[in-house]
Amino acid sequence: MRRLDLRSLDPSADEAAAVYTAAVPRAEVDVEHALAAVRPICDDVRERGSVAVLDAGEKFDGVRPAQLRVPEEALADALAALDPAIRSALDESVRRLRMTCEAELEHSLTSDVAPGATVERRIVPMQRVGLYVPGGLAPLVSTVVMNAVPAQVAGVPGIALASPPQAEFGGLPHPSILAACALLGIDEVYAAGGAQALAMFAYGAASDDGTIDCRPVNLITGPGNIYVAAAKRHLQGTVSIDSEAGPTEIAIIADDTADAAFVAADLISQAEHDPMAASVLITDSEALAGAVDVELERLVPSARHAERVRTALDGTQSATVIVRDLDQAVAVANGYAAEHLEVQTADSAGVAGRIVNAGAIFVGSFTPVSLGDYAAGSNHVLPTAGCACHSSGLSVRAFCKNMHVVTYSEAALREVGDHVVTLAEAENLPSHGAAVSIRTSR
Ligand code: NAD
Repeated sequence: MRRLDLRSLDPSADEAAAVYTAAVPRAEVDVEHALAAVRPICDDVRERGSVAVLDAGEKFDGVRPAQLRVPEEALADALAALDPAIRSALDESVRRLRMTCEAELEHSLTSDVAPGATVERRIVPMQRVGLYVPGGLAPLVSTVVMNAVPAQVAGVPGIALASPPQAEFGGLPHPSILAACALLGIDEVYAAGGAQALAMFAYGAASDDGTIDCRPVNLITGPGNIYVAAAKRHLQGTVSIDSEAGPTEIAIIADDTADAAFVAADLISQAEHDPMAASVLITDSEALAGAVDVELERLVPSARHAERVRTALDGTQSATVIVRDLDQAVAVANGYAAEHLEVQTADSAGVAGRIVNAGAIFVGSFTPVSLGDYAAGSNHVLPTAGCACHSSGLSVRAFCKNMHVVTYSEAALREVGDHVVTLAEAENLPSHGAAVSIRTSR
């Protein structure tokens, strides 16, 4: 990985975020570039419906599915054929994530603001959601769990899921993804990937004979490549999205107490996802940086996806960043706002406590990101490309809405009525005030 020496940078606290965001570059192809590719795909799906989704599948995934909706027998067959070891691992992943989601579920609450005047914050689940599960470079079976469990704990009544069609499996999504859907009781599954799948969820899709194949959803969640992230940005507004969860990123703050082999293994683990994945080491120890380089040389050639890993680690988006001390390391990490941030230092918890921008933080030498990818009980759908400075990872909260339910008695309205009339006059909206006085003046 290339080296970036930031030791001479010493911005003020106000400038630090902007300076370090600019100093640690991201991939050359960003979401803005990919938008140009996904806009026509989304427009085509809005105009031509299911046939446009199938055409795009043929173009980008190399196979035209016989139908968009996966038949229920295919789901049942996939579950029956699932390797028992994978089933047991999925069960444990579901169990841990469900515990976190149940603990995080917010409940309705009522505030008594005056006698006879209440404001209830009522929590209601989204009514229909579309979950996206990537399937281009790797069949992300764990992503079925990460999307579906919070939706189910939130109580969403309508759950649809899409994953790219695979030529190897006759135009169906990968069988392990279908098996995980069946395991979780999700039966509305579509063989559709990328921007075309997200546009199908946003606009709905019908066949030429008028048959509705997919009804529109209220919210789309899930990760994907740069085109999936761009489609989310394009469709936001037509539909709600969780966050832009694009090509994966790992940043590691490590000092000279870190184990170089652990650090190297973790950098490689996320580089394995995508040639556009970013692996960034932030360290105040040149000795550790050198030792990690040696470990990378040793470990990369034996990685199953060595070519992909090498492309990601050699890309402009990956680097070893040398800093003066851990204070600067924290400032750099907060500016970069990584999807995943590991802290492997003498006082990992203390350093982690100062992080304000990251999708998720993994604290200490025995908490690798891969644990969170599968079975930590946390969610692996996380904001990328710096979006962690304003967005959160997927959770049960994304699948819920808050509604204020306001109830005032006549006496309670009389008590506050004059204030409403005064403020309405101040805004030159007297009819607002009149709607109160007509009640209080009787
Ligand atoms: P994917 O399902 O995201 O993408 C495949 C789709 O990309 C295809 O179906 C196709 O429609 C579309 N596509 C490919 N080339 C295109 C082009 N030139 N123009 C328009 N559309 C095109 O699968 P993937 O490619 O394997 O990517 C999975 C991604 O998910 C990886 O980048 C991984 O890092 C990321 N990921 C992110 C998170 C997160 O939370 N941020 C979690 C898991 C995975």
